[in-house]
Amino acid sequence: MSDYQLIIASGNAHKVEEFEQLLDGINFEVSSAEVCGGMPDVDENGGSFVANAQIKAEALRAIAPKEAWVMADDSGLEVDALDGAPGVYSARYAGEGATDEANVAKLLEALGDLPREQRTARFRCVLCVIDEIGLITHYDGSCEGHIATVPTGDSGFGYDPVFIPEGYNKSFAELGEAVKGQLSHRAKAAEWLKDTLKDI
Ligand code: IMP
Repeated sequence: MSDYQLIIASGNAHKVEEFEQLLDGINFEVSSAEVCGGMPDVDENGGSFVANAQIKAEALRAIAPKEAWVMADDSGLEVDALDGAPGVYSARYAGEGATDEANVAKLLEALGDLPREQRTARFRCVLCVIDEIGLITHYDGSCEGHIATVPTGDSGFGYDPVFIPEGYNKSFAELGEAVKGQLSHRAKAAEWLKDTLKDI
């Protein structure tokens, strides 16, 4: 039985389950925004991962039970040769409602035939937590790598088929969830958070 409640600013069962696993062992019961009637609609127009995560966390804070803690995440891909794009536009790089395939195709086209050393990139994830008295904290996780020239593999989502993490020569989509779960930007940010919450 947990003493505290951590509500995740997402109605996506897969995302909530992933955080539940990453945060396993803390004295918090992790639940989805469904316990507050669903995640309110928000405009993710913050211009940074930090700002967007905070926009979502504050929207949930406004409707969550007073004694609960809330957490939101925002993540995306930063490519050095594109000055950090697609960044906060990762989900809609090829346009509003774009498919993963369209986003990946646009990315590969933008990088053209740049050599490997100029295809460096990282996934970043920022978590924003607001506690029961309104204290706001952010946790940042990143995973360095480079962008392949062709998509490979069929696990995961988003840019996984073209992201090769540092120290590997296969894409996240080929490496699969077990490896990604150790290396990912989300796992690293959650590790920081867990380190803080484990003493509560
Ligand atoms: P969200 O903030 O988690 O919704 O992620 C925004 C977008 O970033 C996603 O739609 C993906 O395009 C991209 N992205 C974030 N994390 C990952 C990942 O782990 N693999 C592949 N793409 C990701």
